[in-house]
Amino acid sequence: ETLLEIRGLHVEANDREILKGLDLTVHKGEVHVLLGPNGAGKSTLVNTIMGHPQYHVTDGQIFFEGEDITAAKTDERARRGLFLSFQSPEEIPGVSVENFLRTSYGAITKKPVKIFAFKKELAATMEELKMDKSYAERGLNVGFSGGEKKKNEILQMLMLHPKLAILDETDSGLDVDAVKIVSQGVEKFKNAENGLLIITHNTKILEFVDVTAAHVLVDGRIVRSGDRSLIDEINASGFTGLQGAAV
Ligand code: ADP
Ligand code: MG
Ligand code: MG
Repeated sequence: ETLLEIRGLHVEANDREILKGLDLTVHKGEVHVLLGPNGAGKSTLVNTIMGHPQYHVTDGQIFFEGEDITAAKTDERARRGLFLSFQSPEEIPGVSVENFLRTSYGAITKKPVKIFAFKKELAATMEELKMDKSYAERGLNVGFSGGEKKKNEILQMLMLHPKLAILDETDSGLDVDAVKIVSQGVEKFKNAENGLLIITHNTKILEFVDVTAAHVLVDGRIVRSGDRSLIDEINASGFTGLQGAAV
């Protein structure tokens, strides 16, 4: 069953074409890894999938579970089950981690959240991620270390149960502990009904997951797709040989 299908996508920001005809399909149960040099358009792609208003689709379509979401608002995409983890979200002193998650969950499901069950799941998930209980009461992102922000993203992914989770890790420089958190979170999240699109060069993050396919994005186009071995190939030889290559 198809989760995400992107056809002939062209995207502009500030009158500049960034994505220049991109196709990508993710089925249920699949994990896709997106590689590419800085400035290739990886973050543009995932922001466009989420409906970020800065990015304009000038041609092509995005389908989610068979429905055209090319023009849908970001909150509708979230309700349909799309999730993007973003690296440095704002600090919100008055809103605790728990309240933020509960509000997000309610906004996505459009149903009142069953508080007791929610608290129970939150406590169990935090324990699995080896997070201290006090963390739930802290102001969202206020004074969080890089590792704590990363844990918070993974906690969000696990609590919100998206159908397709997108992790944009590019700016990373993740330390060993953060890498462990992400890889364990990914392993726990993954099942036969959902999908993942991961932007990373860090093969350790993928240690416990079956990678369905890896794709190389160069200058707004996917120039190569392959299996997991493509990641090792890129790690060894870099992107230079792939500039301008045909699909
Ligand atoms: P990647 O994530 O692969 O490093 P990005 O998608 O962040 O690449 O950026 C791709 C290119 O598009 C870069 O040259 C970047 O400067 C440009 N770009 C990204 N966002 C915008 C924007 N909002 N306005 C103008 N140019 C942008
Ligand atoms: Mg990026
Ligand atoms: Mg336009």
